[in-house]
Amino acid sequence: MLFFLDLIAPHKQLSLKATVLDSNLCILTSEIVNFDSELPHYKTKDGVYRDSSINGRIVSPTLMWVEALDLILQRLQDSKKIDFNKLAAVSGSGQQHGSVYWKKGSSNILSSLDPRKPLVDQFGQAFSTRESPIWMDSSTTEQCRAIENAVGGPLELSKLTGSRAYERFTGPQIRRIFETQPEVYNDTERISLVSSFVASVLIGKYACIDHTDGSGMNLMDIKERVWSKQALKATAPDLEEKLGTLAPAHAVAGLIAPYFVQRYQFNKECLVIQCSGDNPNSLAGLTINTPGDLAISLGTSDTVFGITMDHKPSIEGHVLPNPVDPESYMVMLCYKNGSLTREDIRDRCADKSWDVFNQYLKQAPALNGGKLGFYYKDHEILPPLPIGYHRYTLENYKGDTLDGVTEHEVKEFDPPSEIRALIEGQFLSMRGHAERFGMPSPPKRIIATGGASANHSILTSIASIFGCNVYTVQRPDSASLGAALRAAHGWLCNRNGGFVPISCLYKDRLENTAFGSKLVATVEDDKLVAKYGVLVKKRMEIENQLVQKLGR
Ligand code: ADP
Repeated sequence: MLFFLDLIAPHKQLSLKATVLDSNLCILTSEIVNFDSELPHYKTKDGVYRDSSINGRIVSPTLMWVEALDLILQRLQDSKKIDFNKLAAVSGSGQQHGSVYWKKGSSNILSSLDPRKPLVDQFGQAFSTRESPIWMDSSTTEQCRAIENAVGGPLELSKLTGSRAYERFTGPQIRRIFETQPEVYNDTERISLVSSFVASVLIGKYACIDHTDGSGMNLMDIKERVWSKQALKATAPDLEEKLGTLAPAHAVAGLIAPYFVQRYQFNKECLVIQCSGDNPNSLAGLTINTPGDLAISLGTSDTVFGITMDHKPSIEGHVLPNPVDPESYMVMLCYKNGSLTREDIRDRCADKSWDVFNQYLKQAPALNGGKLGFYYKDHEILPPLPIGYHRYTLENYKGDTLDGVTEHEVKEFDPPSEIRALIEGQFLSMRGHAERFGMPSPPKRIIATGGASANHSILTSIASIFGCNVYTVQRPDSASLGAALRAAHGWLCNRNGGFVPISCLYKDRLENTAFGSKLVATVEDDKLVAKYGVLVKKRMEIENQLVQKLGR
């Protein structure tokens, strides 16, 4: 028995990837279609169009995704590495927030696909706009403020939907289409997310939006997991009927459509499990599933996600239903200043070398003698601060208490102190904000991913600051793997007639699957962890002052 996924996001909007797992959860094969180079007739750059006439408008041609789906399935078939007839379940991962607008009458197109013709020839008239707004779009600032105001402010919207309004979120995108292209809105019978769009094509009818990806829209009541009447009203008229109903991420969306059975010889019993967003699928792929698990992705930007039982809304970060456990929540914190800021300080202080950077990091003592730094090479999201570097020294600081400790702003640090202030600063901020969001402290374990997770010195600092073991995974494509694992999970839940924990799939054998992880850093000094616990309070205090003075 095999499981399979298709994906529109190893690197967000750039390509479509398919990964096939066998029943031991090992990778059988994978394929990738790069949009720019392999579907050049769409003339995208990085998979998107940047609209020069409208500030911040970034879209992708929906038909390109449709054509890529046939292309990747054809390649899997030609490779002869898998037997489609043995696929038990399929799921998918779509870039979060992006949306697709199905034209009135398109449900008929979906339900009567001709297997002799490629999908792209049949979907030409299926969309009321041929261009899907995607996560990179930032043209909806006005709509964000209007939606927040209509429900009583950003915190109210966050309490209701799990996040304040963000430009890339689907609700503001829908409101903008309603305001600027009312003919498109009125001609739309269904709005899908990228994830539920993939599921819809696979089952040949409109698929539900799943609870987790649904919380990236500013439209779903995060507690009740139904559309929020208040948020719908704040967004656009008659919206509920265009969204359909919601479903948990582990639910069956439907059976694979006859098109795929006839064209690629899928088994007609093959289940399509609800598709979800790329971040939720990454969480699944990293096997983060119970409270106390934390993942830190150290890419161009840094992202933290973890699991909590509590729903503690805030105007920072995002709360989403856990895609692999209906009882708990997934919390996500996004930092703009990640690797690019580390690179900037490395280039200025450490001869552009990670080796020198790591030597300096070791050279400066843990806690940095009370030197704290805030480094924002780009406008930061968390906290909302403008570009700027701020450095402080603490006086009367011994490490155990903040009694009598005062801070003074200084202009610069020596290179080792600068590098330690950067690394301690970034991870103290993560610890502080994760705790503020109600995530268990210390975490049970941390899984580190992304480019900078290759840096052992950084991972050692993370273990000391958070006070827990740090692991890395074998494979970088966690979203793609996660969707395949969720396909298996949905299949298992369906077979058992109800929800079962995802860990049942790999209990006691994780190390022998594609999802195994490796212990890379441990806690060496418990007293130091406690001292970081004290220091994080001071850091949050100074950060609050900076936000009051300079915050956007
Ligand atoms: P993306 O977010 O684009 O997927 P990656 O996860 O591939 O990015 O991470 C790329 C970043 O990883 C680069 O910007 C680089 O600064 C960082 N990186 C790579 N190797 C190291 C290292 N040894 N130490 C610290 N950072 C590193």
